Amino acid sequence: MKALVLYEKKDGATELREVPKPSVGPDDVLIRVKAAAVCGADIEFYRAKMTGSLRPPVILGHEFCGVVEEAGRNVKKWKPGDRVVSENTGHVCGECYACLTGQYLLCPERKGTGYSMDGGFAEFVKIPGEVLQRMSSALYRLPDTISFEEGSIMEPSCNAYRAVIQEGELALGEFIAVFGPGPIGLFAVALAKLAGASHIFLFGTAGDETRLTFGKEIGADIVARVDERSASEVISQFLGTDGVDIVIDAAGPGVVMENAMTIIRPLGRIVKVGWGKPYPQLFDPLMVKGATITGHFGYDYVSWRNIIHLVQAGRLHYGSFISKTYSLDQWEEAFVAVEEKKVIKVVFNQF
Ligand SMILES: [Zn+2]
Ligand SMILES: [Zn+2]
Repeated sequence: MKALVLYEKKDGATELREVPKPSVGPDDVLIRVKAAAVCGADIEFYRAKMTGSLRPPVILGHEFCGVVEEAGRNVKKWKPGDRVVSENTGHVCGECYACLTGQYLLCPERKGTGYSMDGGFAEFVKIPGEVLQRMSSALYRLPDTISFEEGSIMEPSCNAYRAVIQEGELALGEFIAVFGPGPIGLFAVALAKLAGASHIFLFGTAGDETRLTFGKEIGADIVARVDERSASEVISQFLGTDGVDIVIDAAGPGVVMENAMTIIRPLGRIVKVGWGKPYPQLFDPLMVKGATITGHFGYDYVSWRNIIHLVQAGRLHYGSFISKTYSLDQWEEAFVAVEEKKVIKVVFNQF
């Protein structure tokens, strides 16, 4: 089968290869991939900027969905033809605190499909029986009314759901500021709008113009480049001395956390989603405000369940998030589009 393989932890060491179709054991499920989305992390892997979790040679692609092609003889829950979306866990220990409390993504032994194990930029991907037995939510049923393209971009929206709703605990009428207009930041805007935030600020920097404009279209009230004006200047212009209730840091640099601590109101909530660059040394502003920083990674069963319901009910519109579709053969073109930030999401739908 055809697959996009990252073969070394080196800038650009990725190529389309012919590889054997995965063999299916008695407990495994083989998925024929129908759509797979490119994530910013794929570019970081490709450029060898983020390599900690990479286990090359590995097939990339951690945002994917498709139909069950084959189910091992012991598999009861799935049968060929079932439409499914993966949440990209390929291995968890099943024994640690995180696993035993159902927070599998936080398992120290977790391996993700698409970087630590073979993923969805291929004709087929295997979900091992071992993970399905420990964590049945490694696969979700994709309702018929949701297209495969939409299914492929669910993962980052679940991420945003967890940050805004479950961790940020956004209440109707609150103010929220989102730093970083990548897909997770933009989904955070869409969900904050849906959840009734009274004022949504979206902040980016140079190069983010396309995404900031899109953010405004989907519900951000104020978008601004914080390399031109500070976030606190923008916030104080609209809110006076009031701070925001929630900050979603979907960007990562230390300066964002500094900004977040400035603009958060007393007892406000900061959710750190973006991967860190150097961090500010002084967290004292948090003490005087009694504010909270929540570390965030991924999503859980609740995020997926509720996102699927929202999309199925037609409340969360995915269509506009998909800027372009490609065949897997055009992967280089798709990667460049994401790298240049001229698109929101791009999806492979031919393999
Ligand atoms: Zn991703
Ligand atoms: Zn575990």
